Amino acid sequence: MADVFDRLVGQTRAADLLRQYVRHPVHAYLVVGPDGSNLRDTAIAMAAALQCPEHGCGRCEVCRLVLSGADTDVTIVERAGLSWRVDELREAERLSRRRPLGDGYQIVILEDVQLTVTGTAPSAPALLKTLEEPPPRTVFVLTADETPPELDTIVSRCLEIRLNALTDDDVAAIVMADGVDEPAARAAAAAANGDIRRARILARDDALVRRAAQWRAVPERFDGSPAGATRIVEEIVRALDEAVAPLVALQQDEATRRSAEARELGLRAGSRRDLEAAFKREQRRFRTDELRFGVRVLTEVYRRRLHDALEDEVGARSTDRVRAAMDAIGALGEANRRLSTPLDENLLLYDLMLSLSSM
Ligand SMILES: [Zn+2]
Repeated sequence: MADVFDRLVGQTRAADLLRQYVRHPVHAYLVVGPDGSNLRDTAIAMAAALQCPEHGCGRCEVCRLVLSGADTDVTIVERAGLSWRVDELREAERLSRRRPLGDGYQIVILEDVQLTVTGTAPSAPALLKTLEEPPPRTVFVLTADETPPELDTIVSRCLEIRLNALTDDDVAAIVMADGVDEPAARAAAAAANGDIRRARILARDDALVRRAAQWRAVPERFDGSPAGATRIVEEIVRALDEAVAPLVALQQDEATRRSAEARELGLRAGSRRDLEAAFKREQRRFRTDELRFGVRVLTEVYRRRLHDALEDEVGARSTDRVRAAMDAIGALGEANRRLSTPLDENLLLYDLMLSLSSM
């Protein structure tokens, strides 16, 4: 019989475990999986299965409410910055203390909890306190893309579920299930690095191939001068602006569908301002992912150069080429690391171009 866990493509093993776990709920679950491995879908499916009298049939009113984001007893706590702040976790604690309005649980979903141990003021102690002695009808569903040792005390309070990284085939299959044709789905999956939502957006984006080509051409087109660096940075930033457009279209579609669903179920739609703020955050994350994609494409170019230089006969010239390619790969690695910190796109790209020009 189909249920809410069937929609978790590529996660058969985790889905089987979850079906058992939700029949005997505990206070806190931690779903761990690489970025984009449908962590959010898993958390929402779990919430539906916990609320549903049939453990997540996917068809009843209760399941539909949770899956459409309209169950007021299920909250995804939002984060404003790059790491979790203490006041945001206090808000999560306040929510967790509410009595559920329905017959099920008060479910609090907190994503990316690995971000409670990063930043200048780690907020993990506040999260730990929140997880201590929750009311009997409260369930926390946490997600994380990794569990560093600093997270151990939090992990020890949760029942942990591990998701697989999705293969490009899994991601392509998910995108094709939305009605996208196979070539577009495959191209999007290849550029999405296992991230389903990104693949869905890229599948709507005709310019994806052109953007990849633009990154690939940087070493040939860049003349090494500061003016040349500025020109290339401007081009890349313009392409980023274009790349976000399909996401904005998707967000608008989703907002329209959600408010129609809420109307159908006789509920008030959520605050427009909260929604806009969440959209903006997602757009910022998307730009960063897009930059990561570009850095990966460019790294591939220098890897090939390195490979070719190593294949060639040994000589002073080929040694220079090996060193240049390795330095470029190092500079790209550094740029990739900076993408995980608060960043100024223009500055990061300009620095990257200048370090490539000195090679
Ligand atoms: Zn149900």
